[in-house]
Parts: sequence; C-alpha cells; structure tokens
Amino acid sequence: MNTETFNKIEIMQGDITILDVDAIVNAANNSLLGGGGVDGAIHRAAGTKLLDYCKGLGGCSTGEAVITPGFKLKAGHIIHTVGPVYSGKKEDAIQLGLCYKNCLKIAVENNIKSIAFPAISCGVYGYPLKDACKIAVDTTFAFLKEEKSIQHVVFIQFSLDNYKIYKDYLS
Ligand code: ADP
Repeated sequence: MNTETFNKIEIMQGDITILDVDAIVNAANNSLLGGGGVDGAIHRAAGTKLLDYCKGLGGCSTGEAVITPGFKLKAGHIIHTVGPVYSGKKEDAIQLGLCYKNCLKIAVENNIKSIAFPAISCGVYGYPLKDACKIAVDTTFAFLKEEKSIQHVVFIQFSLDNYKIYKDYLS
C-alpha cells in the first residue's frame, strides 16, 4: 500500500453540495439537464445559472465527464459525469471506472487539487454499492499514484450504511 497516496483519500458521510473543495462531481444523466438524487440536489444548490450553462453543452456520453463553474456552491467547479445504468454486464464496470478516471483527468487539466465524489450510479441507476465502491477506490488510487497534482479526494456517502461500506473497504 502506498501511504502517500492512501492519505489523500477521505471517506465522509453527508451532503456533497455543502463541501468546500475545488470541485464536486455530479452523477448526472446524458442530457445534463438535471434530474433527481444528487443531480437534483446539486442543481438546487448551485442555482438556475447551472441549468442555463448546461443547456449549452449538448449533453454528455456515459463514462465521459464535463466541467462547469460551481455557481452558488462553495466548490468552484462541478464535474458532471454520467454513470452506467446497472445491467449486470461487464461493460458496467468499465464505464463506471471511466467515469472516475475522466473526472480526475479533467480535474488535473483544470488545476483542481481537491475533489469530492458521490457514489456514481448507486442510486436510481442501481449499481450495487460494494462493487461500485471497489471500482471507485481502486481507479482513484491507481490514478493518484501516477498523477501527483491532486491532493485530496473525498468519497461522500449520503447514508451511514454506504459510508460504512466505503470505510470497511479502505481499511
Ligand atoms: P445515479 O442516477 O447515478 O444512480 P443518484 O443521484 O440516484 O445517481 O444516486 C447516487 C448516489 O448519491 C446515491 O448513493 C445517493 O444516496 C447519493 N446522494 C443523493 N443525494 C446526495 C447528496 N446531496 N450528497 C451526497 N450523496 C447524495
């Protein structure tokens, strides 16, 4: 285990919209025009200018990511990514891994040092949390080991049960 990399990762429980980090990640849908769950919460907290901005982006493919300003959020940026709808097929894991990787890549390109992720695809999109947690942590760990500019990655869980799953996996 690489301690320097490990120490950059933090597991939290709570609401991603109030975090004071350089960027929060939104588990968006292909339209980027808002929805329920964490997407709805982020749009409500960021304000209507976010939707206006997203209208100009023309959507986002599954596994890819796009960046917007944070508008009314404490976080300066929002990185929107679209997770796979869980189907039980092998491609799900590949696409979910790509979400994390592409968010981190965009973060580096935008000089972002701290970033927070929700559990992408683990709500309405039905991805089993334990499997998704492993992909999230392993993909991020591998990325941070190679690319040193990001200093702090938060995985934030809304529910205590999900928080415990992440904590268990990390320890
Ligand atoms: P998806 O459509 O990608 O499955 P959801 O928004 O339905 O996305 O759920 C993704 C995860 O985000 C779920 O684990 C859900 O509990 C969590 N979540 C919902 N609202 C928030 C929030 N405000 N902060 C952090 N996590 C949240």
